[in-house]
Amino acid sequence: MFDSLSDRLNGVFDRLRGRGALSESDVRAAMREVRIALLEADVALPVVREFVDKATEQAVGQQVLRSVTPGQQVVKIVNDALVEMLGSDAVDLNVDVTPPAIIMMVGLQGSGKTTTTAKIAKRLTEKGRKKVLMASLDVNRPAAQEQLATLGTQASVATLPIVAGQQPVDIAKRALQAAKLQGYDVLMLDTAGRLHVDQALMDEMKAVAGVADPEEILLVVDALTGQDAVNVASSFSEQVPLTGVVLTRMDGDARGGAALSMRHVTGKPIKFVGTGEKLDGLELFQPQRVAGRILG
Ligand code: GDP
Repeated sequence: MFDSLSDRLNGVFDRLRGRGALSESDVRAAMREVRIALLEADVALPVVREFVDKATEQAVGQQVLRSVTPGQQVVKIVNDALVEMLGSDAVDLNVDVTPPAIIMMVGLQGSGKTTTTAKIAKRLTEKGRKKVLMASLDVNRPAAQEQLATLGTQASVATLPIVAGQQPVDIAKRALQAAKLQGYDVLMLDTAGRLHVDQALMDEMKAVAGVADPEEILLVVDALTGQDAVNVASSFSEQVPLTGVVLTRMDGDARGGAALSMRHVTGKPIKFVGTGEKLDGLELFQPQRVAGRILG
């Protein structure tokens, strides 16, 4: 088992106890530990570089406070810089608009997109007191539409009746009309996932976004896929105007590095994290908590 980053930073500075200001060479020695820890936590290399430069700049020359050791002071600087880069506060969904608010879910197959759609719908129904309708636009994967209907039953959330043979843009139009006519506050569109990013998927997604004009386009990515998740995020954010990210499988042993990379690559907030297979396994993203997980 690795020592935690906090312990290692304290170790680097043990011999410095009592000195006045953090010198550049001491900070550089500490940042070497930070760099290794971030790479171990699966943070993408360019993000690590930028982070280390920023934290070094903030740390060099700082007077060490009387009440703490130099190690503790650097741990605090690194923690604050992580929180800042993760995006200070939790950001909730933009659904308080003239109804129906439309939330479009995008991502690769297996990322947890359909489950997350139902989790968010359940949360909006129970906590937000919204009337929610879900529709699956996935006509490629056999039984994808039935999967959403089953989850809808479990979550007590309505799903759009399935019409065999209908194409995604037409399903989106029908869903929109149903949501308006039946007085739903929120319409969630679960788009098709593919095993890899491909242009046909992107074109279909863009066409749906054009018809639905969503308030939110949420990218669902699997935190356990590390660097791959970063590549997926960068491809999607080039093609559609994402409004946020959901990081699933944070209940697994992901160190949280993907969160830092996501924010950097998409420039958009992480709105939720998935914390289990069950429908209540969804939490608002808490930057402090993820920073703590990276620091160890
Ligand atoms: P999709 O293909 O992207 O729609 O993925 P699914 O929603 O079908 O999810 C694939 C698998 O991942 C299912 O077995 C889900 O129960 C599971 N899953 C989704 N989110 C999470 C999560 O946050 N944690 C865990 N442990 N499993 C999850």
